[in-house]
Amino acid sequence: MSDPRRGLPAVHALVAEAEAAGLAAAHGGGELAAAAREVLAAARAQGGAPPGDGWLRALERELVARGRPALRRVVNATGVVLHTNLGRAPLAAAARAAVTEALGYSALEMELASGARGSRQQHVRTLLRELTGAEDALVVNNAAAALFLVLHALAHGHETIVSRGELVEIGGAFRIPEILAQSGSTLIEVGTTNRTRLRDYELALAPRTRLLLKVHRSNFELRGFVSEASLTDLVALGRARGIPVVHDVGSGLLVPLERFGLTGEPLLRDSVASRAVVICSGDKLLGGPQAGIVLGPQALVERAAANPLARALRPDKATLAALAATLRLYRDPARVLAAVPVLAMLTADPASLRRRARRLARRLPGARTAPGASAVGGGAFPGCELPTTVVTLAVPSCDAALARLRAHDPPVIARAAEGQIVLDVRTLADDELATVADAMRRVLAADCASSEG
Ligand SMILES: *Cc1c(COP(=O)(O)O)cnc(C)c1O
Repeated sequence: MSDPRRGLPAVHALVAEAEAAGLAAAHGGGELAAAAREVLAAARAQGGAPPGDGWLRALERELVARGRPALRRVVNATGVVLHTNLGRAPLAAAARAAVTEALGYSALEMELASGARGSRQQHVRTLLRELTGAEDALVVNNAAAALFLVLHALAHGHETIVSRGELVEIGGAFRIPEILAQSGSTLIEVGTTNRTRLRDYELALAPRTRLLLKVHRSNFELRGFVSEASLTDLVALGRARGIPVVHDVGSGLLVPLERFGLTGEPLLRDSVASRAVVICSGDKLLGGPQAGIVLGPQALVERAAANPLARALRPDKATLAALAATLRLYRDPARVLAAVPVLAMLTADPASLRRRARRLARRLPGARTAPGASAVGGGAFPGCELPTTVVTLAVPSCDAALARLRAHDPPVIARAAEGQIVLDVRTLADDELATVADAMRRVLAADCASSEG
């Protein structure tokens, strides 16, 4: 038998056919040729079978896909509020508007009153000082960069003492021992996995010691026979010996959330008040853009800012605009829980979630509502589960259904459990319910079609 791949049309023949159908006029000749090559390569990879619905439909699909950005908006129906794969914190409306405003020419590094050169940090420094009580503040690309910069600026060529219980991995390539090694500071481990005392740090102090580092265990909990030195005690020890303490808190929590059942994350203001150099992320509990924030005594923050690496790690105008706009929302404590989407989702009341779940379920034949639990995500509040109401639907294949939901426009990201698709309304806006229902109805219709066919 002859190879079916030989029967594939040539690129120019396919392009000519598509031109006749008006596709070149709609998408441009260059795009059409590129799409034709893609479609033919895909058919070749399938052993030479032509697309099921014909060459022109396949070409059109490819052209639409090529015209769409890869970094697309998605609908988050997982209930994971800080979903790392979905961009962590969704920005507040005010922050989105501020980004749009700043993206043209903006007063990024100009003092408009005098016309003199200004600092890009000025747009966030005052707000951060006001909201956290810190003497000084510096913003860089992310918290990993902030820690790297501070270690490099304060302890390069010298020793940093860390508890063995805090040599954590945050996700992917972020491991405390590796960041320390890259920063040029020597790691001195003290204590044990479960217990480290102040005395352990004291005994490890040496003339080469430049820093004591305390790392918040963001994404796991230690329970049982455990103990650690408090930040206050560490700072007191450090002060007696002239050694600064760096506290990597991970999540930048600016308002207490205990009354919503969320406990265990340090408040930025408390860490700052202990006079440690505090490091946190902008896009976790703070609810802003990806950024790393350094807060603390002026002399130390200034040393980090003056380090040549600060330039390599500096934030761009979009980040600064979004962060400043997010921080401004915290000036109004009465409104901040509603205005910052991360906080609004974390503190959503169970009755309104139940109502939203029922509204979604009513749009979906065969759907049920059930009590469930949402996760905070992003390595924050690891032990806390938030009670929610989920919508569940039985499907023949969860993997196939999840893939179809992702193929919807806009893509819908959901979870599966025990043969059912699980939709958590905590991370859905009211105006997204119709989108999710529409995507889910298509999944169910496709399942019917394939079981009948
Ligand atoms: C998340 C986290 C980081 C890393 O923050 P990025 O902003 O993602 O770089 C560092 N330290 C701790 C304790 C964290 O929880």
